Amino acid sequence: MAFPATRMRRLRKSGVLRDMVRETELTPAHLVLPMFVQLGEDRRSPVQAMPGVDRLSISHAVEEAGEAHALGIPAVLLFGVPAEKDLQASGAYDDEGVVQLAVRAIKEAHPDLVVLTDVCLCSYTSHGHCGVVTGDGTIDNDVSLELLAKTAVSHAGAGADAVAPSDMMDGRVGALRSQLDSEGHKDVPIVAYSAKFASAFYGPFREAADSTPAFGDRRSYQMDPANGDEAVREALLDVDEGADMVMVKPALAYLDVIAAVRQRVDVPVAAYHVSGEYSMIKAAAERGWVDGNAVALEHVGAIKRAGADAIVTYLARELAEMGLD
Ligand SMILES: [Zn+2]
Repeated sequence: MAFPATRMRRLRKSGVLRDMVRETELTPAHLVLPMFVQLGEDRRSPVQAMPGVDRLSISHAVEEAGEAHALGIPAVLLFGVPAEKDLQASGAYDDEGVVQLAVRAIKEAHPDLVVLTDVCLCSYTSHGHCGVVTGDGTIDNDVSLELLAKTAVSHAGAGADAVAPSDMMDGRVGALRSQLDSEGHKDVPIVAYSAKFASAFYGPFREAADSTPAFGDRRSYQMDPANGDEAVREALLDVDEGADMVMVKPALAYLDVIAAVRQRVDVPVAAYHVSGEYSMIKAAAERGWVDGNAVALEHVGAIKRAGADAIVTYLARELAEMGLD
């Protein structure tokens, strides 16, 4: 049946009707708040390129994590900003490292809050790459796996509820799973950054996490933004290796990838609304060019509609404060 018998506007007539037939529900329960933690006492360092986001010392991180939880946000994702870096990324798997200390403090204060940790080496290596660099400047995949697995075990030992490898080395999910299992952490899930693209949208994050590569770029391990089928293959491989959840990053420019991955895997799918996506909204809103809150809601709603079950976003608190449900 077509017009005039069919009139799509009938169900758009009132707010109550529109609510009744809304296809995508967004609640704070779907959101994960990323946080940058640093050492020191009572320190809060604003990230210039991400208005409203600060690097926090542990006491502040505990406080902000608690506020997020009180708003109905079930989980935080921690990134460490270590005081020192070296070639072996030893700060990443130091049991007294910044992330490990933060996990313990946050779990002690807020035991019901889910604490996920980003597992990577780039914030801890002096060259800023996500793996171990060999003499000729290439990234050694298999040697990197050992350090990544050590890092995951160290995070789990500190009490992390899940570990999230973001390095894009081949075989890391399997390496993490077997190491976690053999060291008594068989119940700690792996949230794999399966399709992480070599994206310019990460620009502001690199200031926040102080993780800009000293040479070259990350295109030998992160994915080519042009590739969708390859992203699905990455996700399927990670599920095969034992990933409990897979992630697509960034989100808004990769909605087709989120939808394709959602169709092909039988595990929950997360998407990461990244720093550049956040900062573009903030910059345009600051100039009065767009309504920041409305655009934020539309961004995250679109990511949900595309098929993401969980959305990692710096907007989590603002969205929850807007009263999503
Ligand atoms: Zn990395």
